[in-house]
Amino acid sequence: MRASLIIAAGGSGSRFKKSLSSQSARETSPAGKISKLFFPLHGKPLLAHTLAAFQRVPEINETVIAVPLGAEAVVKRLAKEQGWRGIKIVRGGKTRSESVWKALQKTDPKNSWVLVHDGARPFVDRSALDNLFESSKNADAMILARKVVPTIKEAAEDGAVKRTLDRNVLFEAETPQMVKRDLLKRSYGTHPDALNATDESSLVETLGVKVKLVSHEGWNPKITTVKDFELAEAYLQKNETPARHGFGRDTHRLVAKRKMILGGVRIPFEKGPLGHSDGDALLHAVTDAILGAIGAGDIGDWFSDRDPKFKNIASSKILKKVLEGAAKQGWKVLHVDTVIILERPKLGAYKKIIRDNLAKLLQLPQDAVSIKAKTAEGLGPEGEGLAVTCEALVNMKKVSI
Ligand code: MG
Repeated sequence: MRASLIIAAGGSGSRFKKSLSSQSARETSPAGKISKLFFPLHGKPLLAHTLAAFQRVPEINETVIAVPLGAEAVVKRLAKEQGWRGIKIVRGGKTRSESVWKALQKTDPKNSWVLVHDGARPFVDRSALDNLFESSKNADAMILARKVVPTIKEAAEDGAVKRTLDRNVLFEAETPQMVKRDLLKRSYGTHPDALNATDESSLVETLGVKVKLVSHEGWNPKITTVKDFELAEAYLQKNETPARHGFGRDTHRLVAKRKMILGGVRIPFEKGPLGHSDGDALLHAVTDAILGAIGAGDIGDWFSDRDPKFKNIASSKILKKVLEGAAKQGWKVLHVDTVIILERPKLGAYKKIIRDNLAKLLQLPQDAVSIKAKTAEGLGPEGEGLAVTCEALVNMKKVSI
């Protein structure tokens, strides 16, 4: 089964804006003029969470996002930043249904299925999608839905209760809604007011197509108001692995005929660190700190100093490999603080260069990397100019992958 995903992100978010203006959040947020989909949730825009939920879903091979007028550039930039692949961007319409229609034109006709999902439902999970895919074996249209829990009253014109509905047959429609592509296309021509339909199900219902209600166990709310954002934030924080610290320390003997390298930066000096690799004590300390934080042993476990393959290896390559290993488990470095203990040469002129290079290697902003240089006041092997010692403390966080 091959499916296109349409993300309906074209709405103006009027309910969200209303809730912003009624809360103090207005003062703390620049979002008054922008769609709620770009409002930050747990450090990244809401839309980024929603798209992340569909990354690595093999059944979906393209995503078409219908974005609000004027937001194309923002979404393009986001796509680049977040490394989204297979994304097409179309300008949304005046209504949700019109946005979906525009996006539908851009979907690959070779895909027989289309999933339409609200840009503001970031928590849809794999098992909910599996339930949808499973039911596509014997239905042409299906929607994710939740059994209604509260008692629902129908109101009369005067505002009094007209009757109490039987909640056993009531479901709240969620998304994704999954429809055969040709049926959805056809329904736009059949529905009397297609561009004002509030969901895809109501469109294909007019064709007489049976729409299957697919329930699931997850939490798939539509983030609509500032209160919803607060709830979503609390939910993400609760499920988050606490940040971790890792500590690393490394000493290298200083000898003649070796290049002095610290943090990947060549420093002119008559001696340099003895070592199997290039002897970069700063990068070794940082690498060990990362391994410490993620509980993955030490640098010697990863790069044996007896392995000829690692002879004179640039320590930046060692760091890169360890960073990749950490990223595979979802770990990201947030901040690193270091101390270099070296009697000579004085590092004042190099600290900034070393910091900038380390920031580049760790893909961090410069102010998230700290380099402190100390002498040992003539004491001990560092003080006597026989060795360089570096210490590093890293702060790491598990990010959702
Ligand atoms: Mg070392």
